[in-house]
Amino acid sequence: MDASTPILPPAVIGVLGGGQLGRMLGLAARAMGYRVAVLDPDPACPAASVADRVVVGSYDDVGAALRLADRSAVVTYELEHVAADVVAALEARLPVRPGHRPLTVTQDRLAERRFVEAAGVAVAPWREVRSPEDGRAAAAELGLPLRLKLPIGGYDGRGQLRITDVTELDDAWARLGRPPGSALLAERELAFDCELSIVLARDVHGATAAFPIARNRHDAGILVESVAPAPVSPDVAGRATAIGERLATAMDLCGTLTAELFLLGDGSILVNELAPRVHNSGHWTIEGAATSQFEQHIRAICGLPLGSPAALSRAAMVNLLGTGPRRAAQLTGVKAALADPSLHLHVYDKRRVFERRKMGHVTALGGSVDEALERARAALGCLHWADDTGEPMDDEEEEAT
Ligand code: ADP
Ligand code: MG
Repeated sequence: MDASTPILPPAVIGVLGGGQLGRMLGLAARAMGYRVAVLDPDPACPAASVADRVVVGSYDDVGAALRLADRSAVVTYELEHVAADVVAALEARLPVRPGHRPLTVTQDRLAERRFVEAAGVAVAPWREVRSPEDGRAAAAELGLPLRLKLPIGGYDGRGQLRITDVTELDDAWARLGRPPGSALLAERELAFDCELSIVLARDVHGATAAFPIARNRHDAGILVESVAPAPVSPDVAGRATAIGERLATAMDLCGTLTAELFLLGDGSILVNELAPRVHNSGHWTIEGAATSQFEQHIRAICGLPLGSPAALSRAAMVNLLGTGPRRAAQLTGVKAALADPSLHLHVYDKRRVFERRKMGHVTALGGSVDEALERARAALGCLHWADDTGEPMDDEEEEAT
């Protein structure tokens, strides 16, 4: 099929991954009249209730992926931890967007650092280390504290260690669950002013549309709050956007790219992490922008013109995280939280809640990002996860994200 031939509703969009991102992609696709098929190891995954079809299989199951492809017109992914050979097998059959290259350069942090630097964009000073001796050399060159990160598979702050003393390097491989000699990324810990992200879409012809940048706050590695448009100077916003556009073009991406950024005190901007997909820091676009990141992604991968990414309002998004032990998920305080009419509640319908699991989010619109953030935080304060109801947990849920 010619890449410029649009894929039109009611074609089936196949999504690798059925978490909350797949769920919100599915909702946007359905609103446009597309049908949705999802591949996920868990038949009760968050996207299942908005999908026409769920193919149960792991993200490295080529057979399951080909079953997903059978009836799909295009396949996309909601997470970058899909096996590269799955995408390669799919690409022989149908368009996979963003595609193979955006996946391989972003799923391995070491490859990602090399790709970003080759594109002429700065990252934190880093080294590839395979032993505590390598780690000591990196500490001598880069300084302490260091962040030691798994190249593949980490998320929400999991899979990384903060090294404040070189003696902590000795058992670092064991603590990260990796055999001695395996490669890790060692990176200088930066005292940044703030974290930003740029989310942009790039269409089949290479045209881009960038959302206003978000300012993000993390707690122990997990995103807790985003506000947008970020209260930064037009110069910073312009440079952040240019970084996203340059990287999307360099990987010839069709779909959505997110770049997590550090803004340093001297005004320089470094790339922390890339995701070739919609992103938690773009959830504010559902209510806060003319086109949501999810609709935009669907438009991009279907070969349609992109929508306006303009902000309609100042917005703040706060994540609704799990608390307490693993148990059936039952949310309380919804009525009180929604007493403020500027608020929007999103719950991902995960069956189980546990400490720090991403369960939903709240978006508030306001006259300023500070005001919106205050409202969103107040609503979040009303929401709680009920204690164990004693309800039996018969079905097993696999994925922990
Ligand atoms: P994840 O895949 O878990 O999101 P990240 O590399 O983005 O991994 O790290 C999560 C968070 O940890 C970042 O958003 C940031 O707050 C903090 N962090 C990561 N690397 C550094 C660093 N080099 N310096 C300071 N903070 C960092
Ligand atoms: Mg990150």
